[in-house]
Amino acid sequence: MRHCCKFKPDDIYYLKETNICSNRILSIGFCPICQKPVAELVEYSFTGALNRISLSGINAQNMMISLQDEILYSAREINFRNAKSKPYGWKYGINKECKNGKIKQYACDFYGNKELIKSK
Ligand SMILES: [Zn+2]
Repeated sequence: MRHCCKFKPDDIYYLKETNICSNRILSIGFCPICQKPVAELVEYSFTGALNRISLSGINAQNMMISLQDEILYSAREINFRNAKSKPYGWKYGINKECKNGKIKQYACDFYGNKELIKSK
């Protein structure tokens, strides 16, 4: 990510897709030069357009707070928990519709693990 200079994000969050955008990734970090928090949201609309929003300071914080409920999991959690494969801890459900109209139900956790519960 970039502010006064280029630097590595402190953590990367994967966000739920919305009606308009998918592949939504929120990076957060602190600028090593001015020490301000920086948040960068990158998302792709279903038309294929890349949307990038980069904010710093209080605006970065406000963006993080507004996106907090949309976080699926963070890269840091995956690194800590990648030895596990089954959902663990606090779980939530995801329903995915397949092309043939079937619905697959998954249990997911905040560490990126998911398990097929049922398919109908
Ligand atoms: Zn800076």
